[in-house]
Amino acid sequence: MSDTFWLSCHVDYACRHSGACCRAGWPLPVDTRVVEAIDAAVTSRRVPTVDGSVVWLRETPEAPEGMAGTFRLADGACVFHVAREAAGHGAAAARHCAVHATLGHEALPSSCQHFPRVCLVDTRGVRVALSHFCPTAAAMLVDATRPVTIVRGPEAVPGVGVPEGLDARDVLPPSLSDRVLMDLDALTAWEAHIVQALAGPLAWPGAVEDVLAQVAAQAADLARWTPGGASLTETIRGFAPAPDDALDGALSRDTSARDPFEPWTPEAAWALGREACRAPWTWPDPPANLAALDARWVAPAWPYVAPVVRRYLAGKAFGAWVTWQADATQALAAWLSLALTVLRVECARACAEGPRPLDRERLVTAVRQADLLLVHYADSAAMAAGLLPR
Ligand code: SF4
Repeated sequence: MSDTFWLSCHVDYACRHSGACCRAGWPLPVDTRVVEAIDAAVTSRRVPTVDGSVVWLRETPEAPEGMAGTFRLADGACVFHVAREAAGHGAAAARHCAVHATLGHEALPSSCQHFPRVCLVDTRGVRVALSHFCPTAAAMLVDATRPVTIVRGPEAVPGVGVPEGLDARDVLPPSLSDRVLMDLDALTAWEAHIVQALAGPLAWPGAVEDVLAQVAAQAADLARWTPGGASLTETIRGFAPAPDDALDGALSRDTSARDPFEPWTPEAAWALGREACRAPWTWPDPPANLAALDARWVAPAWPYVAPVVRRYLAGKAFGAWVTWQADATQALAAWLSLALTVLRVECARACAEGPRPLDRERLVTAVRQADLLLVHYADSAAMAAGLLPR
């Protein structure tokens, strides 16, 4: 696919071999296409395993077509995540992938080639978001100094063509509301509008919570759009930060069901997270003393880490699968609000270790943990299905 888009803060991503994916303990799928080459290299001792065994594949008879099984794990990590000296690279203590080091990127299974990319493919091209569970991606987000924009960039995975991810090329465009579909030009404008509002060169002022509330109010306006007047794209381009009184009105609405404008409480977020979580994973409960931890360690630092939080949310708006799995307006706004709540809880959890105030290290930990829950443990379709009041 010729058009590939990235967030500007991620476009220079390259694997730094942190090994977080290799040590995560999750099943690591192996495509049939790579088995022969890896097997030959292991049996000839050109590629070492961490424990010296030539057994590296857990064959899975029920694996889907094209898949042979999963990598054998040793102490919860892939057997190929070895100390560098074991592969003849000196005495450095750091570990790396023995398959990649000896056979190259092409010899890796598709899942290893793709991580941490979370791709959305549609007729506009490929959008490459990154999972911040990867420490390298998290550091790029936290340490970015420039405003975030959507930019063209390199192929998601070199040589792969169409990357794995959510492939929406043969489905109807996303919903604007339960009666109207959104055209893709408007979707592009809406996505850029939200990224701009949160973290762009003309990012809206104010607390991030207020920005999300304004986006949610605009999403509700957009969902009421009907043909005959300004086009959807013109309507979106006409949006500006809502005046404070409009925001007050939106936030004071009184409904018994969970309102899309209403920020997610940790209880509501975790109820959905537990429901959407894929076995055998679980969402660990928020800390028991969450309110006290937040007040002591997180709230005082929150204004100072706002640029990072805004970039994190821009990353959740960019190429968001929920746009296609639920809708592009109110469900997307609810997704951003949910992500904010999860990140804040994870900030408190990270600060509880120590305990210490929210600093860069704890912020990186929180961003990584939030994406572990939202991107990897939660089933995206189940999450999307629970975003709006039923
Ligand atoms: S094959 Fe390499 S990149 Fe893939 S999980 Fe194993 S060590 Fe990591």
